[in-house]
Amino acid sequence: MATIFSKIISGEIPCYKIAEDERYFAFLDINPVAPGHTLVVPKREVSYLFDLTDEEYVGLELFAKRVAEGLREAMPCKRIGEAVIGLEVPHAHIHLIPINTERDMDFSNKQSLPGEQMASICARIKEAVDKKLGA
Ligand code: AMP
Repeated sequence: MATIFSKIISGEIPCYKIAEDERYFAFLDINPVAPGHTLVVPKREVSYLFDLTDEEYVGLELFAKRVAEGLREAMPCKRIGEAVIGLEVPHAHIHLIPINTERDMDFSNKQSLPGEQMASICARIKEAVDKKLGA
């Protein structure tokens, strides 16, 4: 059965999409630990990040780097934190999170932001990331 992220990638389930290319896809986490919390996933459905081929793994990180550059411009912060958990959704993904303190990476502090705020954050990040990806 397709994972929820495969359904997002195919458009079956809606998301706040940030960017995509032929192999990778980025969208806002529905329950961000900080505003702008973004997930970057390979389109190929692989459960565990470290089961990706070396080439896919490096490609995913390079794509995540472009997304992180745009994210940092759109959501001013000290750093973009990166995390890998994968206990909830069995489809490899990287969390990118705008952070100012260590506490901004607290995964026990998931939020639910109003749709309007998610949409406006998404538009801001998408514009900045499009520039980085030359889209
Ligand atoms: P984990 O697998 O533990 O890395 O966590 C999966 C992440 O996916 C969580 O932070 C969820 O909030 C996020 N998530 C689950 N379903 C969706 C969805 N439909 N759209 C966006 N993010 C989601």
